[in-house]
Amino acid sequence: MTNECYYDEFDKKEHLAFDSKVVHGAMGCDPITGAVSFPIFQTATFRHRSFGISTGYDYSRLSNPTRQELERTMAILEGGLEGFAFTSGQAANMTVFSLLKDGDHVLLSDDIYGGTFRICEEIFRRVGADFTYVDMGEESQIRANLRPNTRMLFVETPTNPMMKVADIAAISKTAKENNALLVVDNTFLTPYFQRPIQLGADIVVHSGTKYLCGHNDVLAGIAVVTTPELAEHFHAETKSRGNQLAPFDSWLLLRGLKTLSLRMQRHNENALAVAKWLRAQPKVKKVYYTGFEDHRGYEISTRQATGFGGMISFELDSEESAHKLLSNVKMILFAESLGGTETLVTYPLTQTHESIPRETCERLGINERFIRISIGIEDVNDIISDLEQAMA
Ligand SMILES: *Cc1c(COP(=O)(O)O)cnc(C)c1O
Repeated sequence: MTNECYYDEFDKKEHLAFDSKVVHGAMGCDPITGAVSFPIFQTATFRHRSFGISTGYDYSRLSNPTRQELERTMAILEGGLEGFAFTSGQAANMTVFSLLKDGDHVLLSDDIYGGTFRICEEIFRRVGADFTYVDMGEESQIRANLRPNTRMLFVETPTNPMMKVADIAAISKTAKENNALLVVDNTFLTPYFQRPIQLGADIVVHSGTKYLCGHNDVLAGIAVVTTPELAEHFHAETKSRGNQLAPFDSWLLLRGLKTLSLRMQRHNENALAVAKWLRAQPKVKKVYYTGFEDHRGYEISTRQATGFGGMISFELDSEESAHKLLSNVKMILFAESLGGTETLVTYPLTQTHESIPRETCERLGINERFIRISIGIEDVNDIISDLEQAMA
């Protein structure tokens, strides 16, 4: 079949800085019409002009130009080989774990996102894979739990919601020595602050629902892989599972990405101010924030990332204080999720971590006094005033 594809060529824009790459994407403009906003190809299928001639697109489950623009853009931003866009972060993770075979073992961060835990325990354990959860910030815990059949190390850094930091480069070395893949969930920091592939990760995953999209209006997942073998596996899986992101949602993500740098800067600035304020409140017993110099992972954070992001967790003096805060916030919204323009407060115990056993939650510090806050891009004084009145 002859290819008449206008969308074959794109520029990785290696000469541009990250802040310009997020704005201009892989192709950026539509090569045919010059449309500055990359078009939404809202089509299921593509016409062949005559026998043996294809535009390079046949059917949107296999590939679609809008989704492809997003996938290429994410590969550029994360510095990987190929990107894949999914219907949600969960769908991206399902595809990552589909690399496992019966008898494979995986090491994961102990306070992993609840949905990731559920995928492992409820789906892949059934098909014969085994999972161990360790503090990825402790090299000794990683080494003690490695097995000859450990095929994958799955790291969140910082973790959700305890903000534990893991040394990606050091873990990558350990993974390589053991012939295991290193997967990093980069949802919290995004490639604006942290590029795990440069530090040795084999796969980066995201809940694109969070900072990449940034506006709390779309569910999406991203995976970026580094080798042709991994890319081949992901192509085969997505083709069969049909879990790829729709054209319109892909466009929303592309649109959100254009302001990623600006948003992340503001999230970061606001979070630093709110974290400092929280720490000074008598009702706040402990603040978990990677930007504090006395945070256990501060040194690693400053070495492997260029910012601390917009996430803070804290423990109040009583369950009552926690419930009061959640009920009394006004501008701040009591809702699950994170990474959007709006500041959201979440109660991990019954929301994001509801599928994690209570004992595990208690051990990690996720108790009935524990609150997670995703700092938005509003005026920081309004965020602080709202917290102040809600806690009073
Ligand atoms: C939200 C989230 C996910 C799951 O993503 P969805 O888009 O909700 O499916 C995975 N990992 C982390 C760290 C998350 O915050």
